[in-house]
Amino acid sequence: MNERALYSQIPAIDGLLHETPVAALTEQYGQTCIVGVLREMQDDARDAIRERQQLPDWHGCWADELSRRLDSDREALRPAINLTGTVLHTNLGRALQAEAAIEAVTNAMRWPVTLEYSLDDAGRGHRDSIVAERLCQLTGAEAACIVNNNAAAVLLVLATMAAGREVIVSRGELVEIGGAFRVPEVMSQAGCRLVEVGTTNRTHLHDYKNAVSEQTALLMKVHTSNYHIEGFTAEVSGQELAELGREYTIPSVIDLGSGALIDMTQWGLPEEPMPQRYLAQGIDIVTFSGDKLLGGPQAGIILGKKVWIEAIQRHPLKRALRADKMTLAALDATLRLYRRPEKLAQTLPSLRLLTRSADDIYDMAQRLVPKIQAYYGDEWVIRAEPCSSQIGSGSLPVERLPGWAVTFTPQNGKGSALATLTQSHRQLTIPVIGRVSDGRLWWDLRCLEDENRLLQALLP
Ligand SMILES: *Cc1c(COP(=O)(O)O)cnc(C)c1O
Repeated sequence: MNERALYSQIPAIDGLLHETPVAALTEQYGQTCIVGVLREMQDDARDAIRERQQLPDWHGCWADELSRRLDSDREALRPAINLTGTVLHTNLGRALQAEAAIEAVTNAMRWPVTLEYSLDDAGRGHRDSIVAERLCQLTGAEAACIVNNNAAAVLLVLATMAAGREVIVSRGELVEIGGAFRVPEVMSQAGCRLVEVGTTNRTHLHDYKNAVSEQTALLMKVHTSNYHIEGFTAEVSGQELAELGREYTIPSVIDLGSGALIDMTQWGLPEEPMPQRYLAQGIDIVTFSGDKLLGGPQAGIILGKKVWIEAIQRHPLKRALRADKMTLAALDATLRLYRRPEKLAQTLPSLRLLTRSADDIYDMAQRLVPKIQAYYGDEWVIRAEPCSSQIGSGSLPVERLPGWAVTFTPQNGKGSALATLTQSHRQLTIPVIGRVSDGRLWWDLRCLEDENRLLQALLP
């Protein structure tokens, strides 16, 4: 067939719209959408003729291809099953929200809410005020400010307190957090000059002291949340930094990264710095994330001295970095759960997962192994094996939580089988995401609370 004859084979949209299966899809998706996809298909068919002098392979059935294309138009944020063993998995959305937070967000989306409206006098309220009050009650801070994430919190604090001047930081704390958050770069974006002191492994109080000048605006510490320096080390404590600041009347700031509002060791978890401790030591400002160990929505929390928080709230960048109503609703509901700390390991999903006992996970693994083995047949050896999970999000990078995994070992020992298997798990309607190591696939069950959801996801 010559090209001209091929082009004439491309069906007209009007004709297609009258075919029964296409009409049914139009009923479901609407005419605008269907015509849009059909136009794309016509374009693709023309490209195939121009480039390869043939019609596309789906030319036999346009309705099927249309249906396939509509199916693959999935939502951007697909619910998945996290079997990676990392509880606060940044790429999978970090902390799961508590039921109370989900309800609060739904209400804030569905109804008008008193975001910046004072019910006392019908005047204008401040969007941070209620949540800030809660944070102050929990931590003893004088005042608080809430922004979009901790990176924004650090940027805003530096821009407010130190623009055009110097900030002293230890060389051992110039961290890079996944993605593009690097302390030196945030400094320059905030218009501050970084003054590095000490060495990678050891920094002493006199290093800070020697660096203090007329130009010093801030003494800063950054929690090295995603790495750990071991061996011959020395760092200056929050207490010492606060005292030095008082001596020279220079404010002190700590970026805590995760920042736990409650002592995690009571559940046998490793110790994580708490903002209230640093504030009590006299640190002027601390910042941390809302969606790491706190277990709430993505947010940046700034706590500390009232004079500084007021200046931070007035800075023009605050308007650009402020949290939206859904964030504030979720954060408020999450913080309310902290009023009943004895229930927190049940009500807060991230803490519930972190504190799950190895025995509980073991029992689940034993129940799942025969079911998964039956499903995958003889090509795979399915076993329950001990493993260790991580907290994630840079929290406590060297600590591991003992748990259990269901592992898949290929019978024929070929690595390519593993790649095909994990690929097929990613293609499921609800993708199942594990990790591959030591020649097998590990499904770490720590974050799986509903085993039926997994079994359902595997069904064709
Ligand atoms: C995670 C982290 C950040 C960034 O926090 P986001 O809420 O992800 O913006 C900044 N500093 C430290 C030390 C961190 O651990």
